[in-house]
Amino acid sequence: MIIITTAIEMTNYVNSALRNGVEVGLVPTMGALHQGHLSLIDRAKKENQLVVVSIFVNPVQFNRKEDLEKYPRTFELDKTLLEQASVDALFYPSVNEIYPIDKKLVYDMDGLDASMEGPNRPGHFNGVIQAVTRLLDIVQPTRAYFGEKDFQQLAIIKHMTQKLGYNLEIIGCPTLREADGLAMSSRNVLLRPDERKKASVIFQVLSQLKKEAQTKSIMSLKEEAIDVLKKVKGSKLEYLELVNPDTLEPVDDSIDGSVQACVAIWLGGVRLIDNMQVK
Ligand code: AMP
Repeated sequence: MIIITTAIEMTNYVNSALRNGVEVGLVPTMGALHQGHLSLIDRAKKENQLVVVSIFVNPVQFNRKEDLEKYPRTFELDKTLLEQASVDALFYPSVNEIYPIDKKLVYDMDGLDASMEGPNRPGHFNGVIQAVTRLLDIVQPTRAYFGEKDFQQLAIIKHMTQKLGYNLEIIGCPTLREADGLAMSSRNVLLRPDERKKASVIFQVLSQLKKEAQTKSIMSLKEEAIDVLKKVKGSKLEYLELVNPDTLEPVDDSIDGSVQACVAIWLGGVRLIDNMQVK
């Protein structure tokens, strides 16, 4: 595996492959890799001849300084995992390579950022789109892979890349979970053992919602789910929303189509998100 740290070298590297008709898959990550990331890489390996993984802890998508500072960084381990996964190139740029000039770009996301993570993490999606579009400009992938774990992010990236005229496929990949159902996340290592135990309640609540959503009022199920989550000691529920998976607008019992349940909850100092199609 080749490790590339500058934008110009990365572009030169993929250009020679692209000129020869090679299809390039990109898996953008913030490192602290786990099986969830590796499942995206596996998929990219199956669908492309050349796979690039980027590790870039994007400062502009963190709306809280403490969150950026305590974000886990395990570069040596990540490198080993990527080598074992037969990744062709690791793109590991500095902040200056991604943002050569300190200019914040502002994107109109056509309302997809109006709910859930949007209002709760001001500036977050703007920062995500600024970094992702820069990575796409540098790597020019045929396909880019993102997890359904970050459901709203995936919807916004699909929409914005289309809106901005990128010629690539955005591939959404299913959420990988721990044995007790907790969605794998780089942040899980920050949970204390007692918090880690409690964290499985998120999956339980979403699964229960899914089980009953065909037969009961989804609005009353939502209230029950909120009650359960609010009772978890040491937790603070930020939101639990039932939304239309395409528009991300909140739904009610009159909904005919699919429903996605999305949740963000704090356990101690760690913010966890998850989602599930419940209908
Ligand atoms: P991150 O490093 O957390 O920014 O994640 C990089 C990519 O991996 C994003 O597209 C995430 O949605 C995806 N991802 C994170 N956790 C999981 C998971 N448990 N299962 C599948 N994909 C994931």
